[in-house]
Amino acid sequence: MDCVFCKIASGEIPSTRVYEDDLCVAFKDLEPQAPVHLLIIPRAHIASVAEITPENSAIVAHIFEVAAKLAKENHLENGWRIVSNVGEDGGQSVKHMHFHLLGGRAMAWPPG
Ligand code: 5GP
Ligand code: ZN
Repeated sequence: MDCVFCKIASGEIPSTRVYEDDLCVAFKDLEPQAPVHLLIIPRAHIASVAEITPENSAIVAHIFEVAAKLAKENHLENGWRIVSNVGEDGGQSVKHMHFHLLGGRAMAWPPG
């Protein structure tokens, strides 16, 4: 499958990895929108959060555990944001589910 994040997960496309385990990979976003901007992806291809089912939902909890650990490691005690864009209106450009972990500056709400 021609999926850029599957290729990042397999190592076929290089990335700056900050964490990996059997289930997920975390790496630095190519175009960071905050001092800390990481992407956390499942190794398995899931197109978006819209494809989460009772059978595969455990990966989401696992990714949130990893996010909490990475936020601590990056000293984001003042706060941070985790977001997953879904579909066209959600602004999703890569069709492999990913969670943005953003921190190191104050975030606006609501997002544009
Ligand atoms: P989305 O717009 O789908 O929510 O987020 C996709 C994110 O992936 C964007 O923030 C974009 O900068 C990042 N991105 C796209 N291609 C690559 C890549 O090849 N390497 C890395 N490290 N990030 C990428
Ligand atoms: Zn994929």
